[in-house]
Parts: sequence; C-alpha cells; structure tokens
Amino acid sequence: APDTHGLTVWAEIDLAALEANVRTLRALAPTSEFMAVVKADAYGHGLLPVARAAVRGGATWLGVAQFAEAFALRDAGLTTRLLTWLSVPGADFAGAVRRDIDLSASAPWVLDEIAAAASALGRTARVHLKVDTGLGRGGAYGPDWTTLVQHARHVEAEGSVTVVGIWTHFAHADSPEHPTVLAQQERFFEAVAEAEQAGLRPEVRHLANSAATLVHPSAHADLVRPGIAMYGLTPVPQVDDDFGLRPVMTLRARLALVKALPAGQGISYGHAYVPDVDTVVGLVPAGYADGVPRNATNVGPLLVDGRRTTIAGRVCMDQFVVDLGPGSQARAGDVVTLFGGAPGEPTAQDWADATDTISYEIVTRLGARVPRLYV
Ligand code: PLP
Repeated sequence: APDTHGLTVWAEIDLAALEANVRTLRALAPTSEFMAVVKADAYGHGLLPVARAAVRGGATWLGVAQFAEAFALRDAGLTTRLLTWLSVPGADFAGAVRRDIDLSASAPWVLDEIAAAASALGRTARVHLKVDTGLGRGGAYGPDWTTLVQHARHVEAEGSVTVVGIWTHFAHADSPEHPTVLAQQERFFEAVAEAEQAGLRPEVRHLANSAATLVHPSAHADLVRPGIAMYGLTPVPQVDDDFGLRPVMTLRARLALVKALPAGQGISYGHAYVPDVDTVVGLVPAGYADGVPRNATNVGPLLVDGRRTTIAGRVCMDQFVVDLGPGSQARAGDVVTLFGGAPGEPTAQDWADATDTISYEIVTRLGARVPRLYV
C-alpha cells in the first residue's frame, strides 16, 4: 500500500491492473494493433505513467486529442506510434511533424497546413483521414469525403504528406443493438474502398472504441482504440459482464473531523440535509475542486471504515460531510473510500449512476491537486 500518512485526499492508480486490462483487451482483438487512448491526462489517471504501463501491456499505438498531450508524450521519451486528432488553423503542425506524430484531417485546409509545415521541414507527414460515418461530429461527411480523398491524392503527389490511416468514430457503440452501429460500419468500409480506388494506400483502418472492442468484433479492423475499458470501467454498464477488467483508480480521503450533532441541525450550505436523530458526522476533505460532483448532494455511496454511508448535504469546494450514524466510533484520520475496485467498494459507475453522468466524467474530472499515487 502507498504511504498516505497525512494526506487529505488521494487517488491510488493500479498500473498492474492497467497493464492487465490492456492484455485482456488485446486478447479480444488479437490481430489488430492496439491504440491506448490516453487523452485528458489518461482519463484523469496520469498521462505518462499510464502511457508507459499501456506500452508494457502491449499497446502498439497511443492516441490523444490535443497536440500538447502528444508533445508531452514525445518530449518524455515515448517513441510509440502516436496519433493526435484535434487541430485548429494555426496549430503547431510543424511541432507535430518534427516529433513524428500522426495527424488527423477532416477537411482539405488541414491537409494544406500539414503539407506546408512538412514541406518547410523537408519531411513527409503521416496523416489519417477522418470520415464522418454518422456520428455527426468530426470527419468529412457525405460528398465532402470525396473532396477530401481527392485533395489527399493531390497533396500526396506533392510529396510532403502520406495518408497512413482512415478512421471514424461511433455514435452508439455503447448500445450494442443500435442499428446505427452496423450502418456506420458499412459506410466506413465503403469510404475506405472509395479512398483505395482513388489510389490511397492506408496502413490502418480503425473505428473501434472500448465498446466496439468488447462487443463488436466485426469493427476491430486493423487497429482498436480503447479508452475507458483500459481503465477498468465498462462502456456498457447495462451489460452484466465486467469482461475481466479491473478498475485502475481508487479515490480515498481521510476524515478531517468527527463530531456529534443534534437532531434537527442542518448540515452544510443550504442545510440540504437535516438529521432526524442525534448523530455523529464526519468531515471528508474532498470537494468539487477535487472532482467530487456537486450534485452528489445527499447521495453516496461511499465507504467509511468498511461501512457504506452517504453524503450529508451539499458538496462544497474542498469538503463534504457524511452522516456516520448515532454512536459511530469513527475517528479523525480514518480512511474513506469514495470509489475503487475491490469487492464491496463503491465504483466510479455507482457515482455516475447517482449523479446522472457516465463513469468517464467521474474519473476525468478528478482535480489537478489530488495526488496520484502509483501502486
Ligand atoms: N477514439 C476516439 C476518437 C475518441 O474520442 C475516444 C474517446 O472518446 C476513444 C477512441 C476511446 O473511447 P472509449 O473511452 O469509449 O473507449
């Protein structure tokens, strides 16, 4: 166990579980390359330690949303193939090309900016063309795909860009039976065929996020891109199967104060919770600045000394109160588990269910000031 003496709130990050999850997922898609999605500080788990553990577990690619994230990986010495996918006009395409980072293009102007940066450096940039097959977000949609493919042929001929990938993203992969899943997949392979007929020679065709990696083998293609499942959380909570994945993050705190309060004394801002009996409360030094959802008022679940309890009243910026019940023997310094992965512990999914969101948001929103302890 890590040394947590004197810490108020901390996240234990189980890198062995992360590595095991990568192996578990790889075994489901054994002939596909594996891109570990480590954007957003590895979904709150810590970019560099997670990226390194994922590579140890067998990841052959890394994927991030922002250039700054990709630069941080390269500048820390990671040499794994790396794709970054969100850019705006004027982005540091030269910095990306210089660091051998693969780039995504959804529109001709992106190809032009990449080509200009690469040609100034005397390099050839690696690009993945993104097709919108029905998510209605990034990617070239409908006839714009044909335009993008033709433009890609044109800039390839000039020598500073090579199209190494074609990719898309699902709208409903988390609803395994949703008809758009197959429709998007079919549209994707049509778009690939069009690009290949036009003379493009992509090495990797990819579309599977975690849900598709777990439940849609026909979408595995040349490369899978799991995020949430690698962190041991399920993208399909309605499916009664943990797929052998182990939660990676455990969020704990220590009681900062334990005291008696009489029946009728309202608790925390707005007195949203009023105990109807004399009780004992504990002060948990973690608040919405640390990522505890403010709308978790009066919900839980969390574990104090092995006993489940709920939040009493409003979550504040740095702290919240729990009702430990009459006669509680809890003491300042006792460990509180907000969520984790051990049997009996509440999960990030429990918190998501209680606060009307998804587990992704629960872990990703973890505050920057919460120390991540790698175990
Ligand atoms: N691919 C892309 C383009 C993404 O934006 C994401 C994350 O949202 C993923 C893959 C990974 O998704 P998930 O965490 O659902 O596996």
